[in-house]
Amino acid sequence: MTRSSKTRAVDIGGVTVGGGAPVVVQSMTKTDTRDVSATVAQIAELEAEGCELVRVAVPDMEAARAITAIKKAIHIPLIADIHFDHRLALESLKAGVDALRLNPGNITSRQGVARVVAKARARHIPIRIGVNAGSLPKDITEGSLAQRMVSAALREIGFLEGLDFDLIKISLKAFDVPTTVAGYHLMARHTRYPLHVGITEAGPPPAGSIRSAVGIGILLHQGIGDTIRVSLTSPPAEEVRAAWEILKSLNLREHGAVLVSCPTCGRCDVDLQGLVAQVEQRLKNLGSPLKVAVMGCEVNGPGEAREADVGLAAGKGRGVIFKKGEKVRTVTEASFMDDLMAVVAEMEDSNAG
Ligand code: SF4
Repeated sequence: MTRSSKTRAVDIGGVTVGGGAPVVVQSMTKTDTRDVSATVAQIAELEAEGCELVRVAVPDMEAARAITAIKKAIHIPLIADIHFDHRLALESLKAGVDALRLNPGNITSRQGVARVVAKARARHIPIRIGVNAGSLPKDITEGSLAQRMVSAALREIGFLEGLDFDLIKISLKAFDVPTTVAGYHLMARHTRYPLHVGITEAGPPPAGSIRSAVGIGILLHQGIGDTIRVSLTSPPAEEVRAAWEILKSLNLREHGAVLVSCPTCGRCDVDLQGLVAQVEQRLKNLGSPLKVAVMGCEVNGPGEAREADVGLAAGKGRGVIFKKGEKVRTVTEASFMDDLMAVVAEMEDSNAG
């Protein structure tokens, strides 16, 4: 399916999610939220990687109160992740959080949720109904796992709407990709609220990144998903890098350089893997979305190198650099790296100027 109409837009601390806005990259800290300096330092790393919304775990009141100090030291909107106890959401709102994530599977007090909703409405703070396959409400037993996740979300949407609240975002996360995709398909037919998409507990990279890319990629390609989080057992900056690669792969967003390189084969006469690793490092800090190709021989090398903004077709002892399809330099193997980066810098300057 391809989703034909836009979701509603929700504003989270100045970042628009849904309504046709660019798909937003988010992540979650892995520090103890009560440790303000460690949490702020990790959020600074995430910001540097391009994270646009960040979530923190709020396991107790001290963590909720820490939000005030964390908020003062960061530059992106902060979301409080709440399970079990609605009072943690109330305290997080008091501390100045920009949005809440509530798990309908384990926050059972209806009165409590109603109090949170009333406070969130008064402050225009959005709430994500964050359904997880591993913690569904126990009384929802009918249908497949995907259907049960959707039922849990719909019931909570109904409850919030009954309280005259519509600053809602939805997620339905499972480890299994087909289940997750089926759940979001079903949800997209039932609601126009923006969707937060991810594969939960995807594992460590690279397997977790691939699993996430498959699940999130399928959905985004079908027009489903307004914000994404890649969940990895790794430092969270890796989640943000993976999320951006997913968006760049689908041409949905631009974020820094795109590196094209051949896999190498028996025709390759240079240490292309070593060269590409160095180029990748050097391109990390490039602000503009240049496409840079590094190719190992004359078979596909000149073609790909010509297609890129800047390309190197490397051969035995020497290579050719292309800029916007034009051959601009013949270079020796010893200076592949320096000459390629010099042309990249020229290109960046001319784009900026
Ligand atoms: S460009 Fe050349 S070296 Fe690279 S994979 Fe293709 S044939 Fe092999």
